[in-house]
Amino acid sequence: MTREVNVSEITEALAEMCIKANHFLSNDMKAALDKAAEKESSSLGRDILSQLQENLDIAGKDMIPICQDTGMAVVFLEIGQDVHLTGGNLEDAVNQGVSKGYTEGYLRKSVVNDPIIRENTGDNTPAVIHEKIVPGDKIKILLAPKGFGSENMSRIFMLKPAQGIEGVKTAILTAVKDAGPNACPPVVVGVGIGGDFEKCAILAKEALTRSTDEHSPLKHIRELEEEMLEKINETGIGPGGLGGHTTALAVNINTYPTHIAGLPVAVNICCHVNRHISLTI
Ligand code: SF4
Repeated sequence: MTREVNVSEITEALAEMCIKANHFLSNDMKAALDKAAEKESSSLGRDILSQLQENLDIAGKDMIPICQDTGMAVVFLEIGQDVHLTGGNLEDAVNQGVSKGYTEGYLRKSVVNDPIIRENTGDNTPAVIHEKIVPGDKIKILLAPKGFGSENMSRIFMLKPAQGIEGVKTAILTAVKDAGPNACPPVVVGVGIGGDFEKCAILAKEALTRSTDEHSPLKHIRELEEEMLEKINETGIGPGGLGGHTTALAVNINTYPTHIAGLPVAVNICCHVNRHISLTI
């Protein structure tokens, strides 16, 4: 049986999600910051973390965005194969939702129409849209507004299989150390391993949207997440890049099968404003 969904429902949902995501950080991120503030050994680091917590409180209470960079809207859609979309074009509906949310929410418009000519589009569109067809008759919308301070410090490494797990560890640590204070630490590190050039980047982006207290279901990857978090926090970059233990709040790794001749690794870094919100309709 097919279920009809009018694309205007997606527009309305996304408009609200853009405003909500930019004013209220998700519970997992808040809990990770609280935990870090309790454990941080550097007093300057503790000060910075408490300022970040205060900033979050003010943002929610006074409806001021958590950060001035309200991000480029990244939208992951999981569309049930039994859904029949009506009322217009899906991607137009997504962009109308982003436009409405950023305009009505007075959020900063950060998107330029052409990467070379660079004229602001005026409504933060277009979004970056990823679509997946899945079983069922529901639509899951996941929005992750992405700031570019940390996006700019993200990397792809096309490793050789012989570089193995040690090569993967070096790649992750290199990306985080090179990012230093520029990614607005404490960061969340999303890692994609496998697939091909573009697949590993999407895996890394999706990994950022996973709750910070959720680990990979694969034992060897879960162990890698834990080891990398420990090693990153030994770098001493610290909150705000001013020194301390809390450089990262989480390392989330997603994997996918790959070619016998390759070992792609993408490291997508997100600042402490790791915004992600989802809704199923
Ligand atoms: S990287 Fe994050 S915290 Fe830094 S300016 Fe951008 S959105 Fe804000």
